[in-house]
Amino acid sequence: MRLHHDAHHRGYVDKLNAVLEPYPAWHGLTVEALLRRIDEVPEPIRATVRNQGGGHANHHFFWKILGGYGAKAPSADLAAAIDREFGSFEQFKAKFEAAGVAHFGSGWAFLVARPQRNFALEILTLPNQESVLTLPEPAPGLLICDLWEHAYYLRYQNRRSAWLHAFWDIVDWDVVGDRFDGIRAGRTQL
Ligand code: MN
Repeated sequence: MRLHHDAHHRGYVDKLNAVLEPYPAWHGLTVEALLRRIDEVPEPIRATVRNQGGGHANHHFFWKILGGYGAKAPSADLAAAIDREFGSFEQFKAKFEAAGVAHFGSGWAFLVARPQRNFALEILTLPNQESVLTLPEPAPGLLICDLWEHAYYLRYQNRRSAWLHAFWDIVDWDVVGDRFDGIRAGRTQL
C-alpha cells in the first residue's frame, strides 16, 4: 500500500501537474472539477488529463474508503439498499468480486448510486483510469477497488480474485455509508 500510494499514485499527480503547467487557466481547480469539465479541456492535453487526472481521482477515492478500524459491514439505509438490490451483503460481495475478476485488463470496480433511479445501487467496472465523474449519466461512487496489477501483484501475484476477496478486510463501511447519505442529500463528491 505504501508503494502504491507513494509511487503509483504520485506518478499520476506529478504527470497531471506537468501537463497542466503551460495552461494557467486550468490551475486551481479540484481534480473533480477538472474531470467534470473534461470536454472543455484543450484538445492537445485532454487525453493526458483524462488518464492522469482519472488516476489521481480514482486513487484519492480508493484511499478514502479504506481503513482498518471502521465498520466491517454496511448498516442502516445502505445495508437495506444492498439487500434490496443484491439479495444480501454476502451476495453483493460475491457479485462485486465476480465483476472485478471478469473485467479484462487494467481498470477499477465500483459500487455506484443512480440518482435518476431513486439512488438504486449498481456494480460497474471501468477500464484504465476512467472515472465515474466523466460518465454521461451521473453515477456517484460509494466504493472503489483497484484492478490494476500494481494493486495486488506484490502479495497475490496473478490472483486478482484473492485480492478482491481480501479487499473486504480493509473497507471502512462507515465511510461508504456516509457517502451514500451524502449522495442522497445532493452532495456529490469524489
Ligand atoms: Mn493503483
